[in-house]
Amino acid sequence: MVKRRIAEILRSGQPDESILIQGWVRTKRELKGFAFIEVNDGSSLASLQVVMNQNLPDYEAIIKKLNTGASLEVTGVLVPSQGKGQRIELKAEMVEVYGEADPETYPLQKKRHSYEFLRTIGHLRSRTNSFGAVFRVRNACAAAIHQFFQERGFLWVHTPIITASDCEGAGELFNVTGLNLKDIPRTENNAVDYAQDFFGRPTYLTVSGQLEAEVMAMAFSNVYTFGPTFRAENSNTSRHLAEFWMVEPEMAFCDLDGDMDLAEAFLKHVFKYVLETCPEDMEFFNQRIDDTVLATADNIINNEFQRLTYTEAISLLEKADVKFEYPVSWGLDLQSEHERYLAEQLFKKPVIVSDYPAKIKAFYMRLSDDEKTVRAMDILAPKIGEIIGGSQREERLDVLEKRIIAQGMQPEDLWWYLDLRRYGTVPHAGFGLGFERLVQFMTGMANIRDVIPFPRTPQSADF
Ligand code: ATP
Ligand code: MN
Repeated sequence: MVKRRIAEILRSGQPDESILIQGWVRTKRELKGFAFIEVNDGSSLASLQVVMNQNLPDYEAIIKKLNTGASLEVTGVLVPSQGKGQRIELKAEMVEVYGEADPETYPLQKKRHSYEFLRTIGHLRSRTNSFGAVFRVRNACAAAIHQFFQERGFLWVHTPIITASDCEGAGELFNVTGLNLKDIPRTENNAVDYAQDFFGRPTYLTVSGQLEAEVMAMAFSNVYTFGPTFRAENSNTSRHLAEFWMVEPEMAFCDLDGDMDLAEAFLKHVFKYVLETCPEDMEFFNQRIDDTVLATADNIINNEFQRLTYTEAISLLEKADVKFEYPVSWGLDLQSEHERYLAEQLFKKPVIVSDYPAKIKAFYMRLSDDEKTVRAMDILAPKIGEIIGGSQREERLDVLEKRIIAQGMQPEDLWWYLDLRRYGTVPHAGFGLGFERLVQFMTGMANIRDVIPFPRTPQSADF
C-alpha cells in the first residue's frame, strides 16, 4: 500500500486510488451508521475527511478511541465527496489507532484558544491550524532564502555561535563559560580568572555573524550566513527574542546601492515564493490574523521600495502632524514609532532609509565624505518597523582604525578584521535580516513568540 501525504492527496488524489495515510484526529462527527473523521498530518492546513462505515470491523471500539488529538493510520479508497468543502474523501477499509488522547485532559479542544494560552502548551500548539500555517510558512521562507542566494552563486557559510569578540556593539551578550559558578577562580585583583576558563578567555554567544562573513566574502566574493544569534537585551517586546535567526549576506565589490538592490530583490523573491508554495496558509492568515497580509505581499512584490536618506526622513518626521512619544531631531536614532509612521502612514510600503549619522551606527560602516554620516541603510516595513539593517563596510584601514578608537575599542582586539583591510581590501557591503521579523511580517502574527517553535525571552525558556 502506498503511503501518501494529505497535502498531495487533496491536490491530486483521484477516485478509486487505494492509499494509506497516517496523522492525528482534528475532529470526529458521528452520525447514524457512520462517522466523519478529519485527519491532519501537518502537510497542509486542510485535513482529509475520512468516512468510517459501521460495517468496519471493531467500529464501535475504534470510534470511541478516535478523539481529537489521537493518532491513527487509515487504509482505504479515495472517493468523490458528497458533502461540500472537499473534492475528495477517504473511504476507510481499515483503521488502526496508534495513541489515544483523553478528551478530559487533552488541552486542545475544538474551540479557539488564545495565543497566550497556547504559549503555555508549546509542546502541543504546533498541532493547531494557526501554528501549522506559521511553521509551514516559516519553512517556505527558509527555503526561499536559500534558493535566492544559491541561484545567485552565494556561498552559505557557517559562522561560530561561540565568539570571543564582544565589540560588535549589536546588543547585550550572553556569557559562555565552563567555570563552576559556585567556585569561580579569581585573579589577584579579585576579577574572574578567565585564563582558567574553557577557552582561556571570556567568550559569548554571537550577536551576529557579520565580521566572520566579511572574512569569507574576501575569499568567495558573495556569501551569506543563516543561523541563530543571541541577545541578552531585556526588552520584553513583541519584536524581540533572546534567541533568533539571522540572515546576513556579504558581497565583495559592492557598494550601498548594490546592497539596497539586493535586499529589495531578496524580499520580493521570498514573498513571491511563499505565495506560490503556501497559498492556503497565506489565505488563512489574511482571513484570520490580519486582513492586510495578502495586500502587503502584493505591495512588496509589485512596488519599488521608497528610498530616502535619514536627513530627509528627519525632516518628514518633523513635519508630521502626529504626536510622537520620542523626540525627533537630526542625530537621534529613529524609534519604532517613527519607523512605522514612515512605512505605514506616509509611504504605505517598505521604506529604505540610508545615510545615518555616524555617531549612532556601528564602527564598521563606511564613513561618507561629509564625515558626519555613514553608508548605512535600514529597511522599514509596515507594522514591524526595522526588518533589515545593512551597510557598506569601511574598507580603508586608516579610517576604520580611527572609528574603532572613537568608539572606545582597541584596534588590537580586531587585528584579524583589520587584516582584511591590509591585504587585498575591496569595497563591500551586506545586511542582516531578522528571520522571525520576516515571518511576522509575512504572516501578520502580532507577537514574535508565535513565529518560532520554541521562543526564548526574558524569564521564559520552557519547552
Ligand atoms: P532593534 O532596534 O529592532 O532592536 P537592532 O538595531 O538591534 O534592532 P540589528 O543589530 O541591526 O538590530 O540586527 C539585525 C536584524 O536582526 C534587525 O534588523 C532585526 O530584524 C533583527 N533583530 C534584532 N534584534 C532582534 C531580536 N532581539 N529578536 C529578533 N530579531 C531581532
Ligand atoms: Mn536591538
